[in-house]
Amino acid sequence: MAFEIIETCVNCYACEPLCPNQAIYQASPHFLINPDKCTECIGDYMDAQCTSICPIEGAILDDLGNPVNPIGSLTGIPMELLAQYQTALDATYQAALDAKTA
Ligand code: SF4
Ligand code: SF4
Repeated sequence: MAFEIIETCVNCYACEPLCPNQAIYQASPHFLINPDKCTECIGDYMDAQCTSICPIEGAILDDLGNPVNPIGSLTGIPMELLAQYQTALDATYQAALDAKTA
């Protein structure tokens, strides 16, 4: 029963001081959680402190490997809309590349 910080962490330091168990530590290339110390904040807080403060969607996973703050949960942007924007962005980028190599 422990959370995990993954590679999308931007090393903002926000979570580290909030952990009631000193389970979060600075590492390279990103912060990590000691699974032996993480209690998911149960017994200390209603919400996990690290995921409550983390500004990056998907950077912290629960014990099943699912993002605690999934894509769109902090920005409020629906995943379908994000996918549309990504498709449009990819097309624009490809067109610019094509124009440069033509
Ligand atoms: S869930 Fe709670 S105990 Fe676990 S790393 Fe995050 S702040 Fe620490
Ligand atoms: S708050 Fe999120 S982005 Fe910031 S150090 Fe912690 S896990 Fe990384």
